Amino acid sequence: MAKIYNQAYLKDTIVPLEQANVGIASSAVLYGLSVYTVFPVVATKNGLSAFRLRDHYNRLLNSAKIIGIDTFANNWTYDSFTQAVSELVSANQFTETVFVRATVHVTAQVAGAKSRGLETQLSLFAYEAVPILSPTGVRLKTSVWRRTPDYSIPSRAKVNGAYVNSVLGKQDAIDSGYDDCLFLDALGHVCELSASNIFIVRDGVLITPKSSTDILEGINRKTILELAADMNISTLEREIDLTEVYIADEAFACGTSTGIAPIIEVDARKIGFGATPLTKGIKEKYTSILNGGDTSSKKYFTRFDTQFPQAKDDDTAKDNWG
Ligand code: PMP
Repeated sequence: MAKIYNQAYLKDTIVPLEQANVGIASSAVLYGLSVYTVFPVVATKNGLSAFRLRDHYNRLLNSAKIIGIDTFANNWTYDSFTQAVSELVSANQFTETVFVRATVHVTAQVAGAKSRGLETQLSLFAYEAVPILSPTGVRLKTSVWRRTPDYSIPSRAKVNGAYVNSVLGKQDAIDSGYDDCLFLDALGHVCELSASNIFIVRDGVLITPKSSTDILEGINRKTILELAADMNISTLEREIDLTEVYIADEAFACGTSTGIAPIIEVDARKIGFGATPLTKGIKEKYTSILNGGDTSSKKYFTRFDTQFPQAKDDDTAKDNWG
């Protein structure tokens, strides 16, 4: 179990974690009606900095929009959201890289099965950045459960209740002795893992399911596509058949809580031939960006000065970035 930091944020203030609670009669509890995101706050040599904060805020906003949780957009802006994250960082004085979970809960009580015009509260808490999959290699089982389609519970929206689908898939994989599941869509195309996106390599091309294949549009997936372009690696976003994963030269999972984890086996079939040059190259670049040490790191980070908790977006922090 990862350690959770003691100071959390709820509604509009910092509170001790044990007091950061949402009511048992709220739609968040009754229907899983909350949207969320998880982003790293990295201890770089330039101070504590959040990775791709604007992208995370935008995805949270879009998730709320898809589900119809309209009060979030009415009550919060990117600046006020960033200020709340600053307060969390300042209250906890992190000395290590952490993951921050930001959730918009529908806190209205016995409101029935609806989403608009209801009270919402933002919560933030931070926990130790422990990866959810082994960085040395993961074994996957194709899920007996299909990914929830866009016409049912959209995977593009990061909504808490939809994670029952992930729990079903992951638990089935663990029960069968694997590390995680590989979800397929209703037509049998490869989607993603329970909480990570997937890339495969075929003939030197990096391929990932297109965003209309019932996936979460992962922020690390987007980062990897950008890095690959910088590194002159060809990329494709298209439908992927399951058997293409079986015969891929390389495959890896990615996500905030995953980092980049090589996929070494799927359904009792070994992936590739042992060497994973492309995965290795991407992972090296990605790691150096996330550590804050790469020349292009600064464009991805929002820096927090814990003494003066006014967050600065990367481009206003040029003077202080190495
Ligand atoms: N897919 C699912 C279902 C996820 O829960 C996650 C984790 N948020 C991802 C993919 C990866 O997304 P990200 O890169 O934004 O962490």
